[in-house]
Amino acid sequence: MQKGILVVLSGFSGSGKGTVIQELLNRYPNRYALSVSATTRQPRGTEQDGREYFFKTREEFEKMIEKNELIEYALYVENYYGTPKAYVKDRLEAGFDVILEIEIQGALKIKEMFPDTLFLFLTPPDAGTLKQRLTGRGTDAADVVEARLLRASEEACGVDAYDYLIVNDRLEQCVEEVHSIITNEHRKVSRNRGFMNKMKEELKSFSEGE
Ligand code: ADP
Ligand code: 5GP
Repeated sequence: MQKGILVVLSGFSGSGKGTVIQELLNRYPNRYALSVSATTRQPRGTEQDGREYFFKTREEFEKMIEKNELIEYALYVENYYGTPKAYVKDRLEAGFDVILEIEIQGALKIKEMFPDTLFLFLTPPDAGTLKQRLTGRGTDAADVVEARLLRASEEACGVDAYDYLIVNDRLEQCVEEVHSIITNEHRKVSRNRGFMNKMKEELKSFSEGE
């Protein structure tokens, strides 16, 4: 069995990462696992501890860092966000494609540590739509929306580190695009060495006259 692929999905705040991933999980529950991050930011809207995030105090988060329990972590608009190790390892070994919905600094760290990760960057069709979606979501105060939009212009400069740029215009189309990119990634020759080695062994038996 081919081990699952580690997939990083980044994108501007409000680009629709959470929405796209939720739809992907609904449609293909046996294919994908979403890593739930730890964060020091406050829950918003209907978010629940252990579902959207593990909500931590700053002290608790710093303990996790000390104990080396995180694959990566970053500061984003004044809060810590990090990926717990154990779940990711377990799900990859079980054959799931594991999605990390993380920002760009974390993505760069993942790239150094796990270069065979697939990097996807999600964007809305234009900046006006981004602002509308962020404001329309209704979960952030005006100053937080401003800070996130400022951060978006910085993040736009980092997109070269990613493999694919995906425009989230129509949700349905976007979800299927993400799914097919990941599916195609499984077909890369470099990810199928085990299969080809087995095939070569089997073919050898023909030349040996069996
Ligand atoms: P992110 O996780 O990237 O911050 P969200 O998934 O919270 O973004 O989406 C931001 C807002 O945009 C939400 O209100 C969501 O319902 C809406 N949204 C997401 N994708 C689309 C889309 N394709 N078309 C219209 N609205 C969308
Ligand atoms: P939000 O507050 O909107 O949920 O997330 C803010 C940003 O933090 C988003 O860009 C999101 O992708 C990123 N993020 C969420 N979890 C992690 C994580 O574990 N590590 C890193 N580096 N970024 C994360």
